[in-house]
Amino acid sequence: MNYALQTRNLVKKFGGFVATNDVSLNVEAGARHALIGPNGAGKTTLINLLTGFLEPTSGEVILNGTNVTQLAQHQRVKRGLARTFQINRLFADLTVLDSVTMAVNERLGLGARFWKPVASYAEAVDEAAHLLATLRLLDVAHEKTRNLAYGKQRLIEIALALAAKPSVLLLDEPAAGVPTSESRELFESIANLPRDVTILLIEHDMDLVFRFADQISVLVSGAVLTEGTPEFIANNPKVKEVYLGE
Ligand code: ADP
Repeated sequence: MNYALQTRNLVKKFGGFVATNDVSLNVEAGARHALIGPNGAGKTTLINLLTGFLEPTSGEVILNGTNVTQLAQHQRVKRGLARTFQINRLFADLTVLDSVTMAVNERLGLGARFWKPVASYAEAVDEAAHLLATLRLLDVAHEKTRNLAYGKQRLIEIALALAAKPSVLLLDEPAAGVPTSESRELFESIANLPRDVTILLIEHDMDLVFRFADQISVLVSGAVLTEGTPEFIANNPKVKEVYLGE
């Protein structure tokens, strides 16, 4: 099996409290893998261990077959791990296309120079437009990001993360704060992304998770309770029990 992202016996303790308890996660290359679990289950802690924001007490993080446990966040980004930008990373007065083009430029190493080779800049615009088309944002390409609905702004954050051409994208509640009327469309756009990017998703809305994911890991009290296909998880009595208590 070809795994894009794995953890091996990952443990994170805060003082005496075990927030991540021996988690061994296997995210297949190209998967839409969701991490679910009740509040306090340890989802955010796990994501922070994956990105390198937190250091594990023990265990390993493996990215595309390489042990990255000792690597800093930016080094993991360089190796293909991306997470969505926070909303304040958006340039409110730039158009959508200009924002994404800037992010593509940054990857191409053109951003810091004031002299831009014209051909490469045109390529960056082309690539940005292609990304917007994939995320169904082409119709708002020339709008300022500040004028867009919140759901669209969240999609632009995803476009900015994708501009770095990551192999793995971590989506931490992309629909948080997005009105339900927009969240379905948001997920349809994400579902349209090519399979060369592996996605690990944390999402509270089970309806969205079951539509989107092909693999689900259920986290409870810091440990993996069970994992499998959406069908398996939906019919799993252990999972039902956990969510009935919520
Ligand atoms: P989730 O994202 O699933 O809601 P979290 O990862 O945020 O869960 O939290 C898991 C548990 O770890 C919670 O009980 C939380 O209080 C605890 N926790 C998270 N971060 C810290 C920290 N920096 N110090 C102490 N406890 C923490």
